[in-house]
Amino acid sequence: MKIAIDAGHGPETPGKRSPNGMKEFEFNSETALFLREELPAADVFFVHHHAYDRPLAERVRHANRAKADLYVSIHANAFGTGWTSPHGIETYIHTSRPARAMAVANAVQQKLTAATSLYDRGVKTADFYVLRQTAMSAVLIEAGFMTNKVEASLLQTRAYRKTCAQAIAAALRQVCL
Ligand SMILES: [Zn+2]
Repeated sequence: MKIAIDAGHGPETPGKRSPNGMKEFEFNSETALFLREELPAADVFFVHHHAYDRPLAERVRHANRAKADLYVSIHANAFGTGWTSPHGIETYIHTSRPARAMAVANAVQQKLTAATSLYDRGVKTADFYVLRQTAMSAVLIEAGFMTNKVEASLLQTRAYRKTCAQAIAAALRQVCL
């Protein structure tokens, strides 16, 4: 089992930050590190880069060439300008609704919302590049809203990032490992 982990974006991606200045990449990348710790080392590799915003095409090519079995993209959500009310966790799969990705996404949603007690926005579909162009099952996780004041404060803590990583790992173990 090979799992490509993608901490969406990069440290200098424009926008992509909470109203109080947390970069989305800070959440994504530390959660990715914790997730790697939770899984057998031989099974996981990163397709993002810590120093720059690696283009999506390169991330996907890396995963495809490595013949990953699963692609997990980790994000924090945003809505509108400044602090806004939308909140909760959602997981995306491609609009073609691949069955295995759906099973992974369902497990991720269940474990993440149980572990965090955040609102369950459900599994959704989207024609995102990393979901469309990956040759393997792919899920994209939005683990809370940076633009929601309560959730932004969680997203900024190591404890919440670790909780998310443990929940995602538990879901992967349940469905795939
Ligand atoms: Zn993102």
